[in-house]
Amino acid sequence: MADVRLAERFVIPEEAIREVVRSVPEVLGCHHIRTRGSNDFIFLDLHLWMDRDMRLDQAHRLSHVVKDRLMARFPQIKDAIIHIEPPPRENGPGSDPE
Ligand SMILES: [Zn+2]
Repeated sequence: MADVRLAERFVIPEEAIREVVRSVPEVLGCHHIRTRGSNDFIFLDLHLWMDRDMRLDQAHRLSHVVKDRLMARFPQIKDAIIHIEPPPRENGPGSDPE
């Protein structure tokens, strides 16, 4: 049973998603990658890290670049919801903005 759940949960390997995200140089990283759906009909959501001083219009444009690349690389992704945030701070409370 565990194997079946795993196959459903990781319809696209997380590392493959990260690889696409890393192909956009201005993007600092990502986390909270989640996929839902079936193998050929996937909804993806993830959190993208961008410089906290980046202009909103640039951050927004980049989020679309990432989305376009993800959907081009994995046509089975029917929609992707991308949440933009600054990267977590090194230490201290509230270091991960979630
Ligand atoms: Zn987050």
